[in-house]
Amino acid sequence: MALERVSGVAARAATAIGVLGGTFDPIHNGHLVIAEEARVRLQLDRVLFVPAQASPFKQNQHTTPATHRCRMIELAIAGNPTFALSRVDLQRPAPSYTVDTLRLLKQEWGEGSQLYFIMGQDAIAGLLAWRDPAEIIRLARLVLMRRPGHAPDIQHLEAQLPGLRESLIILDSPELSVSSTELRRRVAMGWPIRYQVPDSVMHYIMAHQLYRDYDSASLTADQHA
Ligand code: ATP
Repeated sequence: MALERVSGVAARAATAIGVLGGTFDPIHNGHLVIAEEARVRLQLDRVLFVPAQASPFKQNQHTTPATHRCRMIELAIAGNPTFALSRVDLQRPAPSYTVDTLRLLKQEWGEGSQLYFIMGQDAIAGLLAWRDPAEIIRLARLVLMRRPGHAPDIQHLEAQLPGLRESLIILDSPELSVSSTELRRRVAMGWPIRYQVPDSVMHYIMAHQLYRDYDSASLTADQHA
């Protein structure tokens, strides 16, 4: 069953479903902040955290097994009953394309539901390279959350993808310049990640010794200093 953690609530045609896809390797406070901001501002009934098997754009990169990534999501969202983990992308072969994910979620939640695909500002820059972007904006409203250091050229994207502007909702949200990449590096360096991830996630990372050997070859001289 794709929707989890909302025990006793069968999948139904809820009105407004936020969808936050990502690798979540690991989930961090930046993800949680944009999910909550979108939920409240758009009055979403649910926000689904949808971990990918392996991003189509990160195929050469080692991805932590899905069981760990899912467990960290469950720990991070515990206590927010409107947040849920969806394994929809893990139940089919990789790579997981957003358009397929949205189709499956639309089937699951019913034609009467409205999907809101939430993403950080960095992610929309690559939208044109995604599979069937025209279908993506037909299936879901795109919700763009501002992210430090990223300023996509919406006009250029609209010229390439007519209809984008009508689909797009741009929200200001508290900007946290935390990223999974940086967190993996920090763990490998022995630097703190506390307050960048929920404590439960930090403890999980430590207990399971995740990211200790992460990419140490690519750490710069500065980072070693
Ligand atoms: P990585 O560093 O491994 O690329 P990430 O931190 O960008 O990971 P993802 O799991 O790839 O995390 O991101 C899922 C979604 O969350 C994307 O739409 C991304 O833009 C968004 N996102 C991640 N971190 C932030 C942040 N700090 N602020 C706003 N949006 C974010």
